Amino acid sequence: MSQLPGIVVTGASGRMGQMLVNTILESDRVKLVGAIERTGHAWIGKDLGIAMGGAEIGITVDDDPLDSFARAQAVVDFTSPEATIEFAGLAAQARAVHVIGTTGFTEDQLARLEPASRHATIIRAGNMSLGVNLLVQLTQKVAAALDEDFDIEVVEAHHRHKVDAPSGTALMLGQAAADGRGVNLPDVTESGRDGITGARGKGAIGFSAIRGGDIVGEHDVIFAGEGERVILRHVATDRRIFARGALKAAIWGQGKNPGLYSMLDVLGL
Ligand code: NAD
Repeated sequence: MSQLPGIVVTGASGRMGQMLVNTILESDRVKLVGAIERTGHAWIGKDLGIAMGGAEIGITVDDDPLDSFARAQAVVDFTSPEATIEFAGLAAQARAVHVIGTTGFTEDQLARLEPASRHATIIRAGNMSLGVNLLVQLTQKVAAALDEDFDIEVVEAHHRHKVDAPSGTALMLGQAAADGRGVNLPDVTESGRDGITGARGKGAIGFSAIRGGDIVGEHDVIFAGEGERVILRHVATDRRIFARGALKAAIWGQGKNPGLYSMLDVLGL
């Protein structure tokens, strides 16, 4: 058992954090060696199992990432962009694989992850599920096959607590559509339509977001032509798919050369 890769979960009290902890505790391929929360969080200093409302598991929730990362082979991180940038430097120092599920990075923030990826193995994906990563490939293929007479719209729906839009997954799908068409996504993005917006631009890739209730994550890529539509859809009904994907990435990353990888690398797609 002691040879299993040790995992630290950051943002351990979050929706994804708790899902990751439960998935690791059920797994015989990885073991939990640490749990990090932000300074001042009510769970700091408490046993993680008890904080989650169950039995004691012998892992104390901590706000000192470097100390925990030094004991780990991988850090699995679904927090916020600023926190993730800090964790990237610390995970590189600790020589731990950094699996990043956090979304909502600006271009500037993404550039700040690059120094760490020269020294550490980083796997970042806006969506860790097998189904969405397959959908990314399909989107690229369909976008390459259909010309600009087909308008591309990415529509996503998430729970009411989500703080960023479009979702990381919607952006991955938009990027795949742009790659398929051979265009630069920022040049063709249309989002946040409201009021008298004028007609849709030819060749634009549109984004819209629905927020409500407990929706785990739904994505449609619509190719709307004259007289017909092709719709590619993924519906997530359980966050466990993201946790399983993240742990698969943590195992895959062991012994890999430093660099920035995606779930497409992990899944061999
Ligand atoms: P959440 O708000 O429930 O959890 C985030 C947690 O991070 C919170 O517990 C918060 O206290 C903690 N945190 C924030 N700053 C921290 C810091 N400096 N140090 C330690 N902990 C810190 O959110 P969530 O729904 O779990 O989502 C988290 C992120 O993961 C979001 O960006 C979301 O979009 C993304 N997400 C990605 C995927 C994927 O497959 N890539 C799937 C689901 C969610």
